[in-house]
Amino acid sequence: MKKEIVMMVGPTAVPERVLKAMNRKSISHRSEEYCEIHRRIRDGLKKLFGTENEVLILTSSGTGAMEAAIQNCFSSGEQVVVPVIGTFSEQFAAMAEAHQLKVTRVEFDLGEAADVNKVMEYVTPETKGVFVIHNESSTGVTNDLKAFGEALEGSGALLITDSVSGAGGLEMRMDEWKIDIVLSGSQKALMVPAGLSFISLSDKAWKATEKSNLSKFYFDLSKARKFQEINQTPNTPAVYNVFAVDEALKMIFEEGLDNVYKRHIENTGRIIDGVRKLGYDIFPKDDKYASRTLTAVYAPGKAKEIVKGLAEQGVIVNGGLAPIADDVFRVGTMGHVYEEDVDGFLEALSKLG
Ligand SMILES: *Cc1c(COP(=O)(O)O)cnc(C)c1O
Repeated sequence: MKKEIVMMVGPTAVPERVLKAMNRKSISHRSEEYCEIHRRIRDGLKKLFGTENEVLILTSSGTGAMEAAIQNCFSSGEQVVVPVIGTFSEQFAAMAEAHQLKVTRVEFDLGEAADVNKVMEYVTPETKGVFVIHNESSTGVTNDLKAFGEALEGSGALLITDSVSGAGGLEMRMDEWKIDIVLSGSQKALMVPAGLSFISLSDKAWKATEKSNLSKFYFDLSKARKFQEINQTPNTPAVYNVFAVDEALKMIFEEGLDNVYKRHIENTGRIIDGVRKLGYDIFPKDDKYASRTLTAVYAPGKAKEIVKGLAEQGVIVNGGLAPIADDVFRVGTMGHVYEEDVDGFLEALSKLG
């Protein structure tokens, strides 16, 4: 059988180099050897997030960092606004509700990006936070975070963004775009197995932590910040994932961050053009906000059959998520995906009726 082509939207393909970096003896997370690696990935993640703020390293999947953001920066009964454009942004709204926040959902049609003007109509002086997903992995749509940063500048609300399927594949400029909290995970554009999440807070967000009354212990970010000063974490981190992130960041910086972004843009563009030539369209309603880390392909009634047909040819992509599971399949260009993979995918797709 020929080589498998893995174009999943997460977990993504793990490069050989990253796998090899994990093939080593166990070390203590209190050793100097560990601290040295922790310091390196701490610096690398700051570049990836475009921030001078600390990026804390948590042992959890991406959802854990979402929860940490809520638990550390809010109090029960506080009002937040969540533009909902798909499954993952809805999950943020539901999670905030589970922590007793008062959530105003601003719903958009699936396939649309969040319109900043519409969202701002719901932001009042009482609003303590606006949760804007960077890249909605269920519909393949990227939000304009810069526009939200500008709109919320000087307001009392924190701008919080889930960049789990963005950071490392899409440009992220936390400081320049005035985002208060950015969080991400290891198993998407970072090309590492699931197990670590990352979160960064602005000064304004750290101020909010002082007033927060929600219970927290494992995800107490103030405690994590103290340990970060000595390049450690309060509890045992997923040390092997730390080895892996260290290697993945080396790969990213060797290629050059701008080149990595360019590769994602070009590969996704090639997929969009390619599927259109084959008679499909993409699910996002406008190309200008179509994601560059994954493509949601619109194939009404045929999505499941296509995912199966591709897998039989050794091309692994993901199905759609409810309520569009029958009509959409998703192809990842996150992380370790190159032009030849895209061409292999398009060739396999062309063989399906
Ligand atoms: C994958 C993903 C998550 C988090 O998922 P985990 O399984 O907890 O890592 C959150 N948001 C988005 C946009 C995602 O793509």
